[in-house]
Amino acid sequence: MSAPSERARSAARCISVTGIVQGVGFRPFVYRLATTLGLAGWVANSERGVEIMIEGPPTALETFLSELVRHPPPAARIDRITVEPTTPRGLVGFVIRESRTGQRPTTRVSPDLAVCEACLRELFDPRDRRYLYPYVNCTDCGPRYSIVLSLPYDRPRTTMKDWPLCPDCAREYHDPTDRRFHAQPIACPICGPQYVLHDPEGTLLARGQAAIREAAALLRTGRILAVKGIGGYHLTCDARDATAVQALRERKFRKEKPFALMVASVDVASTLVELDEQACALLSSPARPIVLLPALVVLPGVAPDSRELGIMLPYAPLHFVLFAAGAPEVLVMTSGNRSDEPIAYCDTDAFARLGGIADAFLVGERPIARRVDDSVIRMSRVGPIVIRRARGLAPAAVATLPSERPIVAVGADLKNAITLVVDGQAIVSQHLGDLDHWPVVEAFEAAIRDLCTMYEIQLERALVVHDAHPGYVSTSRALTLPGEHRAVQHHRAHVASVLAERGAWSETVVGLAFDGTGYGDDGTIWGGEVFVGSLSQGFQRVAHLRPSVLPGGDAAARWPVQAAAGFLAALGELPDLLAPPFSFPDRFSQARQLVARGVQCFPTTSMGRLFDTVAALCGFTRPTSFEGQAAMWLEHLAQEGPPVPPYPFPLVGSQLDFRPLLEAVIADRKRGRQPTEIARAFHEAVAVAAVTVAAEWCAALGLRTVVASGGVFQNALLLARMAELLQARGLELWTNRAVPPNDGGISLGQAALAACASSTG
Ligand code: ZN
Ligand code: ZN
Ligand code: FE
Repeated sequence: MSAPSERARSAARCISVTGIVQGVGFRPFVYRLATTLGLAGWVANSERGVEIMIEGPPTALETFLSELVRHPPPAARIDRITVEPTTPRGLVGFVIRESRTGQRPTTRVSPDLAVCEACLRELFDPRDRRYLYPYVNCTDCGPRYSIVLSLPYDRPRTTMKDWPLCPDCAREYHDPTDRRFHAQPIACPICGPQYVLHDPEGTLLARGQAAIREAAALLRTGRILAVKGIGGYHLTCDARDATAVQALRERKFRKEKPFALMVASVDVASTLVELDEQACALLSSPARPIVLLPALVVLPGVAPDSRELGIMLPYAPLHFVLFAAGAPEVLVMTSGNRSDEPIAYCDTDAFARLGGIADAFLVGERPIARRVDDSVIRMSRVGPIVIRRARGLAPAAVATLPSERPIVAVGADLKNAITLVVDGQAIVSQHLGDLDHWPVVEAFEAAIRDLCTMYEIQLERALVVHDAHPGYVSTSRALTLPGEHRAVQHHRAHVASVLAERGAWSETVVGLAFDGTGYGDDGTIWGGEVFVGSLSQGFQRVAHLRPSVLPGGDAAARWPVQAAAGFLAALGELPDLLAPPFSFPDRFSQARQLVARGVQCFPTTSMGRLFDTVAALCGFTRPTSFEGQAAMWLEHLAQEGPPVPPYPFPLVGSQLDFRPLLEAVIADRKRGRQPTEIARAFHEAVAVAAVTVAAEWCAALGLRTVVASGGVFQNALLLARMAELLQARGLELWTNRAVPPNDGGISLGQAALAACASSTG
């Protein structure tokens, strides 16, 4: 076969691929595909994604393209492929080129991935050189975002840079047929980092496999361990050892907030919680989130007052080795912090902060580049509700938005996460935390810096979007950034986040934003808001909860009875609420005096505080020990009650009047009605009221979509009832799918409103 005739039958294509295509085995996949098909050319990571030059027989090229699209590596996500014909150059062989730099990145760095099946097989194969090695990984799995220092994603720019490859690892790394070809974090027991066991003073107790074996033994005897994972430290102990669990609560100053669990296998999980197919799939997904599921058992001290347990499966190879070494099969696996500080991820910080909590430290030598908490997802009848979006899920593009200009949206002060819009892709950061903690402010600033660097956003050119609250830390930090600034009202951002996820840039909807606190247009505390509008036209407030007052401001969020004092002041004569069955504490009387004197009272339309009020009337009279606790307690109470008719919660003018509702709750409670039934009738009332007002506006304007977002909509019972009631009226309910309905979703909504408003001028 002569060269010219072969050349004549040859075609060539220049292909560029964007999406999650770096650090997920994409180049080796392309290499194997091309060589199998006998095609020539090269593949390279660029800052735009992956570029491929390929030439050969046209039919083979066709096959190549269709396989590229149809069977990419499991962790990859292709957003866009451009294919341009070019002139064949008579290339010989196929090569993987070194990374190129100097172009604008549209590549997303991949989230961290749970260890894959192939690596697990090696991990437990006594003949394998990585037998029981807790840092096994490959191009399909392993750490990514938690080890990346800068892009493009190559070993010298990760926290693995200080471990040069041994000859065996180097061979795998450079062998295009190996499944570790260009796997940046690869290592083995010869050349890589190890796990070590220390006492709290930092004395070395054991190293390597001995460290893990000894750690497992300590857990079996009821000890509490600090264990370094992928995105930070966990505190762990035997979840079936009530004494250990209690000790952990006391040392961690964590009174009632549920602990997450890590279980050895799906089988073990099925003994603890109700598992269906969807829950199993979520538990085993590469993100390995904590999944909140209905509990089948009570583990004393693990999740007091909750009908759910938060379960996750092992995801780091270390976790598998730890279970195999005999660790108890149900472990408490809670954030390595004290109370609600941010989770520790640096070794020195972990020893300093967790020294008084952990009996020993199981420390991995590989540094963590940034804090990435476990993700949390709640299963509900309307689908999974993301409560916290972090490890395994972030950072990632969750939406496309109509903006050529880069946007940096900084979110709200609680449950902060930021969103970047680059080349029309909205990339949401990991959950960063509450900005009233200094380390969270630092993480917030680092996230802006890191992500802007990784995606080459020049802040000077960017639109910087923040909450309308002038007192927010996020607002004042945003105002120090260069670029043009824009404020977006909190509850409009909640509604916008849902529309952004669905790419519904011009859909006109009724938007319900129910949450605890957000700064309103009039400077009061909003939280029970009904809007009509669209991303491009903006949202007009058309109805809201009847205003009440919050005595004592923010403190009222921690004392349901204090919120109750404000709401109940709108009613006529009240029974003695200090007496049974209400038995309110003195705090209530003090708050009432504030209301009576009009001192320190803040007007509010907060639906979250209405939930607190009803929780107080149903028996939750103590202070809460974590955010949203009273509402969660009330939901669980309601789930135990039978279906009942709703309390009256009428729409009067543009206001939902809570007074008849609260009067009925008080009367029922005095009459001795079961709190489970009262809670249920209250949920039904909120669902009916929300649906009634939404349906009224839908009918008036010929709309058919209702959007619900805000912290209150983490409530699965409420959502399920609303979905049913709306469906019966031929209307559709849209809720968040990718970002949390709580303030963790605010930055996406901010970005969406800014992008769509500027795109329509
Ligand atoms: Zn793997
Ligand atoms: Zn090695
Ligand atoms: Fe909110």
